Amino acid sequence: MPELPEVEVIKKSLNHRLKKQFITNVWTSKFRMRSQLTAQDQELVKGKMIEKVSRIGKFLVIQLPDSFLLLHFGMSGRLLIAKNNEEIKKIQSTKHVHFLLGLSSIYIFLHDQRRFGGVRLVRKSEADSIVSLKKILNIGVDPIEDLFRPRDFFKKTARVKRNIKSYLMDGSKIAGVGNIYATESLFRAGVNPETPTNKLSLAAWSRIIGCIQFVLTIAIKQGGSTLRDFTDPTGKRGDFTTNHLVYGKKNFNCVVCNARLDAKLINQRTTVFCKFCQKRN
Ligand SMILES: [Zn+2]
Repeated sequence: MPELPEVEVIKKSLNHRLKKQFITNVWTSKFRMRSQLTAQDQELVKGKMIEKVSRIGKFLVIQLPDSFLLLHFGMSGRLLIAKNNEEIKKIQSTKHVHFLLGLSSIYIFLHDQRRFGGVRLVRKSEADSIVSLKKILNIGVDPIEDLFRPRDFFKKTARVKRNIKSYLMDGSKIAGVGNIYATESLFRAGVNPETPTNKLSLAAWSRIIGCIQFVLTIAIKQGGSTLRDFTDPTGKRGDFTTNHLVYGKKNFNCVVCNARLDAKLINQRTTVFCKFCQKRN
């Protein structure tokens, strides 16, 4: 599932390609997605110039003069680009393309096999800035763009008895951290994923936040994590997968103490951890 680093990689790859281009064509498939543009939305975006491509949490935001076009990648979504008829035909002949945006000199396609992703248009009459859009979407602190301070979270969670793993993955608290990056950050911070947040010291919060920022920054530099088929819009796979120390490594040995790693379902998500190295709180 694309998390913050993967969407950031898509954003960086698209911003310079899409900026100042006019939307000439919009198409949606007849299959149901989590959300899709209405006929009215499609009419509204046609002819508009793209001002900028940005990111809010796991949403890619295409900024238009009078609206925000939001793309969410769900479990398996990715964007593909085509620059000529041959490339367009090749992509259109593949299954699972559910949204197309034609621009002056480039086409972008949303490819989503499992269709948990979605496309949505928010008019500026509903949200006039990125800040108000963030409120509408109920997105929390962005670990790489906002002030992300241990003391704030230490105070906020002093009476919250939720396990730290699901807290980190709650997008209304912290933006864009999913199973991969929560699992990897908690291992590096030495914190057990089931630790209740009200039992975490300020020092533990400092380690957790430092590790989240470290892991996300390196992951962005390496093009994200490719599990099955994530690629950036040019087809490049993400290399951060080679830096996973625990995610997807059930029954492997811990790189620190060499004990067998454990796996547990926490809020329906498989969580791999080392019971010896992740004891600090
Ligand atoms: Zn260990």
